[in-house]
Amino acid sequence: MAESLWTIRCFRCGRELFVEADYATFTYHCADCKASLYPNDPLMHVPAEVVWSEGALASRIERRPFSSGAVQATKYLPLMPLHDPKKAAAVSLGEGGTPLIRLRGIEHQVELRFGLSLRIFGKVEGANPTGSFKDRGSLVEAAKALELGLPEVILASTGNMAASIAAYSNRERRVGLGCHIVVPRTADATKLIQAVVHNASLYRVDGQFSLAVELAEAFFEREVARAAKGHRGRFYLGGDYCYRMEGAKSFSYEVVEQLRRRENDAPDAVIVPVGAGTNLSGITKGFRELRDLDLGVRALPRVYGVQPFANRTDPEHPVEEEARSRQTTVQPDDGGYRPQMLTNFKPEFGAVLVKNPLDAIKVIAALAETRGDIVGVILGDAVDLRYNHEEHGFDTLSAKWDLGRFESLFVETSAATSLAALYKLADHSKLKDGETVVIDLTGDGLKDTWVVAKHRLMLTVEAAVREEQESSSELGPLIPTARGPDGSSRVDERSVVALARQVDREIRSRGAG
Ligand SMILES: [Zn+2]
Repeated sequence: MAESLWTIRCFRCGRELFVEADYATFTYHCADCKASLYPNDPLMHVPAEVVWSEGALASRIERRPFSSGAVQATKYLPLMPLHDPKKAAAVSLGEGGTPLIRLRGIEHQVELRFGLSLRIFGKVEGANPTGSFKDRGSLVEAAKALELGLPEVILASTGNMAASIAAYSNRERRVGLGCHIVVPRTADATKLIQAVVHNASLYRVDGQFSLAVELAEAFFEREVARAAKGHRGRFYLGGDYCYRMEGAKSFSYEVVEQLRRRENDAPDAVIVPVGAGTNLSGITKGFRELRDLDLGVRALPRVYGVQPFANRTDPEHPVEEEARSRQTTVQPDDGGYRPQMLTNFKPEFGAVLVKNPLDAIKVIAALAETRGDIVGVILGDAVDLRYNHEEHGFDTLSAKWDLGRFESLFVETSAATSLAALYKLADHSKLKDGETVVIDLTGDGLKDTWVVAKHRLMLTVEAAVREEQESSSELGPLIPTARGPDGSSRVDERSVVALARQVDREIRSRGAG
């Protein structure tokens, strides 16, 4: 057998985890590393990564595409783990090629406030087809599902990922795939609207996002086990896993190419909201590849990850000492990775509201490799500002308003964390005069207009009319769960079987099964 261009390996120990040609071997996690690092924590995993063989990337690219033609994600498909990049382009919705805008108004603010002269560029990822950076990864994931001959996609999500994968799979498009999304029962209906419009089937679980992930993964494991017994593989598991991380690389390729067209060198620093960590680690990998291929990156830019501070500034716990115990879930100093048990995340953070980033271990490695860091930011509502005086002006809402005010950019609240982090880095002298900094503006402001209604217009925002939402059949059947010893919901065999039954019913009802 010819040596393949890439293999799927454990990020930590390098063991080959599965082979694409054999569905029965599929897994995105390393059981060995989990057993040694996290034996007692069912939610902790050590993720897989696509590892390119020596010379494989170089053999796949012609250098010309990197300096000519329109900047767009499909141009970089040869650097994605897909056997037929030309065929994969059929999945495209025109993602990537997002504007890289010089933020002169923000530069002026930084000069005034910190006496620092920077070249600041915003990469407007909200300009992607479904309004967020997720489309870069969805292009690769949908193309991979097609390539593997899997007609259905299943994933857990509460928002942008659901909208994005639903649009890319969409069974009524020419290259359509069935799309099944497991969501927390209390997920905000407004975030699922795009997914519903693009034909996704939704299933709800009574618990948080992590429970939805657990259920989708358990369902997928059941499918893989069935394949081992001779059944045909049907489902591709989408989400923050190794293929999506490859899709994220196109952000870096574009940044370097767009800067070069403006006769600017590659950036000195890049600021990326962490979320699940997949985007940040993919972006770092993209820059590393360009460096290794000698394509315009001499040294890796410092990569800074942004996370919301989780603290106890909730009105019910207005204790000043506690407010000072600000922490991010990724702690770069602790060597390995264990999630911090934190409370009181604010829903405004939306897409970066991830308590246990699946790719935290990759994020920590990326920060170490690039000499970057984690930057914690607050939301900046009235309660926050009352108990976090020193965060005044470095908060997310201030950054969001600044982008609207000085640049006419309307970004999702989670995207504004990038600018809040830039302010903090400038204040802490982590950025130097004359440096070029790129901030990743991950999503469009139209994704969460309720934040503006609540914090700018001071309107009362109801939590998406909960009762109506819970009785809406469009938002999917409720999958039963068990109760753990602490009273919280748990996924068990019964949940997985119930989900499988509902999924089969959905597939049959559209006459595709
Ligand atoms: Zn391992």
